[in-house]
Amino acid sequence: MSIGIVGGGIIGLSIAFELVERGVEAITVYDRDPSQGAGLVAAGMLAPTAEANFGEDALQELMSESMRRWPSFAERVEARTGVSIAYRTEGTLLVALTADDQAEVDRLIGFYRRAGSPIEPLSGRDLREREPLLAPRVRGGAFAPGDHQVDPRRLLRALRTLPVRFEARDVNTLSTLRDDVIIVATGAAAAALTGLPVRPVKGQLLRLRGPEPLLRHVVRGIAGGRDVYLVPRADGELVVGATEEERGADTTVTAGGVLDLLRPAADLLPGVAELVLAEALAGLRPGTPDNAPIIDRLGNSEVIVAAGHHRNGVLLAPATAAAVAETVVDKATSIDISAFGAGRFT
Ligand SMILES: Cc1cc2nc3c(=O)[nH]c(=O)nc-3n(C[C@H](O)[C@H](O)[C@H](O)COP(=O)(O)OP(=O)(O)OC[C@H]3O[C@@H](n4cnc5c(N)ncnc54)[C@H](O)[C@@H]3O)c2cc1C
Repeated sequence: MSIGIVGGGIIGLSIAFELVERGVEAITVYDRDPSQGAGLVAAGMLAPTAEANFGEDALQELMSESMRRWPSFAERVEARTGVSIAYRTEGTLLVALTADDQAEVDRLIGFYRRAGSPIEPLSGRDLREREPLLAPRVRGGAFAPGDHQVDPRRLLRALRTLPVRFEARDVNTLSTLRDDVIIVATGAAAAALTGLPVRPVKGQLLRLRGPEPLLRHVVRGIAGGRDVYLVPRADGELVVGATEEERGADTTVTAGGVLDLLRPAADLLPGVAELVLAEALAGLRPGTPDNAPIIDRLGNSEVIVAAGHHRNGVLLAPATAAAVAETVVDKATSIDISAFGAGRFT
């Protein structure tokens, strides 16, 4: 059985990985330009707690399922490829700067508790004990121990060493492919090949660099009503993200976007101003009308779609990849993907 995977981003390559793990040999990954994937821009937060939203219960369950799979997924990827992907489990701090920001964090804490997620309120002093370089006027926040992080660029580097055939190709129609099973994992471009309502949602993000890390935890902050997240890497890189803009497939970086990120970042963590601005970039999240992915066979065909992972494609990669690989190899999956059918939009 030959498998063609269209799209060699986080989702396509994670599916390739789970197929290789199951002994499938004839896999071709078609990608027109891997440097355009959202995974190279993504921060790598694995945040089933902080990414939970009201009314998205099925998505929440899939995020939790995928998070449960992350430790073993990371271990297996590293064991097979020999590449470290920097999966880190220190957890995430929610941080509020002003009294109004604190009121918003208190509201979020209540919501996360009702959703059953582990969350521990912290005072400003508690926060500075855990992260001494936070601004002295930080008011309070919370600790989300279940929200972890990984380096998506390392993950992609690891997955590109898999024993599969990589073909540089812009696939315009699926009928040109000769593989027995075709998996469409073209992210924000999935509408063109499937007709499904996946749209690009622009996100601008910065990569700053210093001699050593300013933080140990991922910080999700609110400063004067502005949201920002700060994701530290061991080598001194600090990822600052991200805007969310409905601008079609535009990937320009704007002065306003950079300002919207740097202002709250420096308010929460003044040391940010000393770092080198190494990269300012924009990527396209694959958004859907209900913010949840599409993981489904197209009708009775041998075409399976795995796209529309929006803000959480890195988090959702292990569960998505296992569900698709089981569907291909075993003709059924133990993961509940019934809420993620293509038919819900027709
Ligand atoms: C600023 C930003 C921050 C983010 N932060 C996080 C985060 O912290 N945590 C998280 O979980 N997620 C995050 N995401 C979301 C995450 O990046 C996406 O959900 C994820 O990358 C989707 O993976 P994908 O493989 O579906 O798409 P992509 O990673 O975009 O890959 C799609 C691939 O398909 C190829 N392709 C497209 N069309 C064709 C075609 N016709 N023929 C051949 N190849 C084609 C492209 O070249 C590309 O390589 C973030 C996204 C952005 C933009």
